[in-house]
Amino acid sequence: MTVLEKEGGVGYHSSGRNSGVLHAGIYYGSDTLKARVCSQGSRMMQAYAEERNIPVRRSGKVIVATSSATVPQIDALLQRARANGIRAERISPEELLRIEPCAATRSYALHSPDTAVIDSRPVLRELEEELKRLGVTVRLDSQVVSVAVNRQVVSTNQKELSYGFLINAAGLHADRIAHQMGSGLRYDILPFKGLYRRLLEPASRRFRGSIYPAPDPSLPFLGVHITTGVYGEVLVGPTAIPAFGRENYRWVEGVHATEAIRMLRTLAVMLGHNRQGLRRLVLEEARRYRKGAFVRAVRKLAPSVSASDIGPITKVGLRAQLVDRHSMSLVMDFVLEEGPASLHVLNAISPAFTSSFALAQMIVDRIQKKRLTRSIDRASSTGPPP
Ligand SMILES: Cc1cc2nc3c(=O)[nH]c(=O)nc-3n(C[C@H](O)[C@H](O)[C@H](O)COP(=O)(O)OP(=O)(O)OC[C@H]3O[C@@H](n4cnc5c(N)ncnc54)[C@H](O)[C@@H]3O)c2cc1C
Repeated sequence: MTVLEKEGGVGYHSSGRNSGVLHAGIYYGSDTLKARVCSQGSRMMQAYAEERNIPVRRSGKVIVATSSATVPQIDALLQRARANGIRAERISPEELLRIEPCAATRSYALHSPDTAVIDSRPVLRELEEELKRLGVTVRLDSQVVSVAVNRQVVSTNQKELSYGFLINAAGLHADRIAHQMGSGLRYDILPFKGLYRRLLEPASRRFRGSIYPAPDPSLPFLGVHITTGVYGEVLVGPTAIPAFGRENYRWVEGVHATEAIRMLRTLAVMLGHNRQGLRRLVLEEARRYRKGAFVRAVRKLAPSVSASDIGPITKVGLRAQLVDRHSMSLVMDFVLEEGPASLHVLNAISPAFTSSFALAQMIVDRIQKKRLTRSIDRASSTGPPP
């Protein structure tokens, strides 16, 4: 078994740049793939981290209503949590203050005691080492350039390799690899940039867990939130600003003309349709490049925070968000698409880090089942032994 990674190490992209929140699984409709793997994935990753002394902390999360319009969303989330078998309770503003002294809400809030935080980077390093110990070849600096499906050959910048089965988990580039292989043709990635800032001391010391706004249920983003990390640092963010390059972390870095034009066109058409209230989102999020708008978003969650409590940070991540070309809307759920001797992990957006172990288990089970069915089919087509 071989893992191909184009960078010189693991975690250069989404998995090494996320908020580190292991979501409990509240947000997702019970018919979604996200609901099927999120809470189990969180439990699996927490157990993995604890066994290996990787810092992980069940610090909990409160979800607050930042306006009276979002109060019903708290009830809707409570119902989803119940449907998904996740612990969550509705709490009064007074109870909220006992849990999270700086948080504010309209009417009531939701408490999720099972939300945890982790530093993703040691998890990734441990996984790399463990794979190597198990005999898996991890080829770094090996970029998949093309795939010949008929010959089952992958060409990298270094060499050609043949494969028996290929799993495409290329994150921000997964759609491109899928398209080359004739899969995922109705989807394109439109990356969304997540910028963070941090709370400075002494204000940061007043926070204990995570504070999230009740999200817009039609969008895949959870909104700017406050997260007390596993080492006690307090992050605010991330934004969800459309980016014009898959690795456009800063200014024009990672922007390629042809692709930027394609992304701009897609965004323009989507803004024209305005599905999922995209116009409002883009306008609101783009303003958050400026500190003032960012501070306003934070103050809706914790009104005592002032502009001088918020400092800069270089942390930025890009979401591998899929757009459905048919409906010109943002895809909400994870997408697994099978091709000839291949499986493509598409739209691995949040909570894909939380869900990763359970999702990986589901993928392995699916491949094994397929192989078993194929060998049973072969055996029955050759008939019983004489
Ligand atoms: C700002 C932000 C905050 C988030 N917060 C959370 C959170 O709190 N909780 C949570 O659960 N999820 C969160 N997520 C989502 C989560 O981080 C991602 O969904 C997850 O990490 C995706 O993992 P991945 O393996 O698909 O992608 P990646 O981690 O990007 O891995 C893909 C890998 O493929 C490699 N690659 C790409 N193309 C090629 C190629 N051609 N050849 C070889 N290698 C290639 C890349 O170098 C990369 O290492 C967040 C995401 C972002 C961006």
